[in-house]
Amino acid sequence: MGTPDDVWPYGAIARRLVCRAGHAIASFQTHDLEDACLHYYLVGGRLYELPRDGKLGPPRLERGRLVVPVERIAHAYVPSGPVSVLAFCYRCREVFAIRSVGRHRRFTTWNPVVEYELCFVAGKLRRIVPKQVESSDDVRKRLRGEGWTIVSRRHPKAVAHLRECARWEAPLPKRRYIRPKRGRWSRL
Ligand SMILES: [Zn+2]
Repeated sequence: MGTPDDVWPYGAIARRLVCRAGHAIASFQTHDLEDACLHYYLVGGRLYELPRDGKLGPPRLERGRLVVPVERIAHAYVPSGPVSVLAFCYRCREVFAIRSVGRHRRFTTWNPVVEYELCFVAGKLRRIVPKQVESSDDVRKRLRGEGWTIVSRRHPKAVAHLRECARWEAPLPKRRYIRPKRGRWSRL
């Protein structure tokens, strides 16, 4: 297996490729196209491959910054047959679980799996088949079936995990301003 390609549904189709709770998924991964870390848009029942680079447009000054727009023309990609696309829903709350393995206690977190099969005929999307479309409750059920014990968000392992995530997702510190002895305020 190579590196999965991304599929970004856009427009009406994005409202059909949702998790069990109805959340739209921004991007899916698939091994059924080129398997080469490529990006595709799924729009109007067709796939378009996004090129890695594009044509640079005329630069313009915007509030002291020079903005250089890039125009990229995505070309139609014509698959035939089924294409499985997979994602996790991160808008549903994650499920925490622990399990004893020998003398160790393992800890895991899961988000709902959202997997659809897209059936293309000569490049045109003809059918969407849900393969595994979970809610958080489905995740709990699946993990219990695999011998895991579900724990709450207040479990010490879950608290530590959430704290670690918050550390990574924390916004950059607000800019601090200092008053120089002389002159104007400046930004650090
Ligand atoms: Zn969801």
